[in-house]
Amino acid sequence: MNPGVELEADCSRCVGLCCVALAFVASADFAIDKPPGEPCPHLNSAFRCEIHTELRQRGFPGCTVFDCLGAGQQVSQAIYGGRDWVHNPEIASQMFEVFARERELHLLLWHLREALQLPDAAPLAPPVRRAFLRLEALSAQAPEALLDLDVAAQTRSARTLLRRVSALARANAPGPHVDYANADLIGAKLGRADLRGANLRGTQLVAADLRDADLRWADLTVADLRNADLRGADLSEALFVRQAQMDAARGDARTRLPPRLNRPAHW
Ligand code: SF4
Repeated sequence: MNPGVELEADCSRCVGLCCVALAFVASADFAIDKPPGEPCPHLNSAFRCEIHTELRQRGFPGCTVFDCLGAGQQVSQAIYGGRDWVHNPEIASQMFEVFARERELHLLLWHLREALQLPDAAPLAPPVRRAFLRLEALSAQAPEALLDLDVAAQTRSARTLLRRVSALARANAPGPHVDYANADLIGAKLGRADLRGANLRGTQLVAADLRDADLRWADLTVADLRNADLRGADLSEALFVRQAQMDAARGDARTRLPPRLNRPAHW
């Protein structure tokens, strides 16, 4: 499939939506509190981050791992035709709400596209392709239609299908196939764990010790890996892993990644 919708962020064609629409809570990820709809003080008039090259040092590591998956340029260009919230303040609040919805749709589209790349899930390719095309069309609608869209229902439907894809893709993989879906494993000691074929969908793995763990064929859909220790871990065959998840984790030269992902610069 060669999708028309872009699922990789291109900040050069966005009007800084993530830097204004989202709320920040002062924490290890963001140096400041910021309510939704208020521009970050580091966003300049050209919609660029003035501290882009030193985000971690300046206390904004959360910004380095946020990924709109192309929703920013879709909203800025395809949906609003290049208009922005500074020169058109009357559309600002609508634009921010559309961005939030578009990002949810892009997250689903990213996972559906990924599902189509899994040879063992090929029997489900036809419904996955149909779901992708339906969501792609919905994501290109006018703002009013997007605001009327029941995104939660779309999410439920796509997730049901993706769970079936995951089960099929992992069915014949070696390993114990443990099920930790949505589990709270924050700070868990999982060094050297055999997590081959595991269901880690939505699992909270913040600061978990996963050193030298075997995560091949594990489903890591939206698993929270912030500050997880992946040094020496094997994710070479892991499923549904996004670059942003790796960027939020720790790793080293021994960590094995799926070929399509880049080794984060801070590892
Ligand atoms: S620090 Fe930079 S990247 Fe982060 S929200 Fe502010 S302007 Fe955007």
